[in-house]
Amino acid sequence: MQINVAQLLKEPTGASRTVDVDGALALDQGDLSPVQGRAELLRVSKGILVRGEFTTACHLVCSRCLKPFPQTLQFRTEEEFSPSIDVASGEDLPAPEDASGFRIDDHHVLDLTELVRQHSLLAAPMKPLCRPDCAGLCPRCGANLNQQPCCCSDDAVTPFAAAFDKLKSARKSR
Ligand SMILES: [Zn+2]
Ligand SMILES: [Zn+2]
Repeated sequence: MQINVAQLLKEPTGASRTVDVDGALALDQGDLSPVQGRAELLRVSKGILVRGEFTTACHLVCSRCLKPFPQTLQFRTEEEFSPSIDVASGEDLPAPEDASGFRIDDHHVLDLTELVRQHSLLAAPMKPLCRPDCAGLCPRCGANLNQQPCCCSDDAVTPFAAAFDKLKSARKSR
């Protein structure tokens, strides 16, 4: 996902390129997630504006049952990359005031990896669910209720729950 933009940097404001993106990046626990998309690189006064549409496939952890599950994320980006070297003179350019901004490296290579990574994280839901009706975990025994009903609803209770029930009934009878 690295694009050499030396030529585009020499062109006037308004010049553009469209590139197809087909790559991969490490999103979760070092597993490589495929990334596909298309980006328009537009020469603007301070650098290059990247307008892209991307799709990544990654694994999220269900917020109810804590199981990882595959999820496709789609998102659009619009971010400006500033050059670190003047393409005409070869001289270093000062870092932009917005230090968090994206930069083109000193070989005029624009790397989309960090852009796509950040937007993938933003596109992921805050409370991912493996399926809309995920039954989650039993609060008593921790069993995954999607796989099987646990025994807690029957009379077979855990020692802790049994002690708690005893305490409750003892209080009631007072
Ligand atoms: Zn789940
Ligand atoms: Zn249970």
